[in-house]
Amino acid sequence: MEKTNLCGMFVEEIIAAVAPLGLEKYRGRQLAEWIYQRYATDFAGMTNLPMDKRILLEEHFSVESVTLAAQEEAADGTTKYLLALEDGLAVETVLMPHKYGNSVCVSTQVGCGMGCVFCASTLHGVVRNLTVGEILAQVLYVNQMLSIKNEKVDSVVIMGSGEPLANYEQVLNFIRLCHEPYSMNMSYRSFTLSTAGLVPGIDRLAGEGIPVTLAISLHAPSNDVRSRLMPINQTYPIETVFAAADRYASASGRRVTYEYTLIAGINDSEEQAKELARLLKYRLANVNLIPVNPVPERGLFRPEKEKIQRFLQILQAAKITATVRREMGTEIRAACGQLRHKVLNGKSSQRSA
Ligand code: SF4
Repeated sequence: MEKTNLCGMFVEEIIAAVAPLGLEKYRGRQLAEWIYQRYATDFAGMTNLPMDKRILLEEHFSVESVTLAAQEEAADGTTKYLLALEDGLAVETVLMPHKYGNSVCVSTQVGCGMGCVFCASTLHGVVRNLTVGEILAQVLYVNQMLSIKNEKVDSVVIMGSGEPLANYEQVLNFIRLCHEPYSMNMSYRSFTLSTAGLVPGIDRLAGEGIPVTLAISLHAPSNDVRSRLMPINQTYPIETVFAAADRYASASGRRVTYEYTLIAGINDSEEQAKELARLLKYRLANVNLIPVNPVPERGLFRPEKEKIQRFLQILQAAKITATVRREMGTEIRAACGQLRHKVLNGKSSQRSA
């Protein structure tokens, strides 16, 4: 008999699911706390539930979780986990310790269909969407790791593999569930959702009344260069993305973050910095400059330090809030998709050997 997974359900759904076993409402709340606050992945250890109910639960239900398939840790504490899902597929999750707390970057799809040229996540295409439980299980896994040090995840960046707005319902329910007091009680402001620029999804998000930070992967100030880097730009060109971001900013009152991966000789010139400054001048925006993780086989290299500084100065001189993202864990392939790609390649070369 197929068991029903409880991880990813709201408490009302858990209560309704377990009621036929004779479990009262407050038992449903206890189950939610075990799963979301104490990271339980089976029923045997849920000691405040009667033993006969635990046995019944074990027969009919499961708590979907992830297991560690590979891990790399950098000197600065950035840790990338390749986490196996129950069907054997795997996704990447990254823990980034900051002075102001622990941030975790989660994946929302296995692979990605967006085709951005600088990104390893898209090399094998999109395989499938993750469920609420599978996205949440990544945070629960990291929380469990952090609990050893008496710490927890303080903020979530939805910027791992996958386009979150292409898996809209699951991603939104994941955010809502993390916000619930019986779960992780996280404020909406502690979430950043990063999109390649799916305009209808941005507009839908603006209507939700959930003030997450919106991050737009921009990467170029002109349509010709952006289309070369991001095929999605042919469907939603820059001007439509900016218009949707402006609507989001005015609906949420939140500054939009523009991610800009700097690639030598492609989007790092002074003219491009000035054009970017012109585009953002009157917008509620800030810019996150990200020196590319080199992909030599695609001719993508990191600009020299002086060039990165010059790009930054031009933006700052135009009064645009801009920073260069702290180099975290480049030695552990912290850019999205690289660890999974390495492991997949290892497996395929083993098979063909
Ligand atoms: S950068 Fe993001 S949207 Fe683009 S291919 Fe990679 S995961 Fe997908």
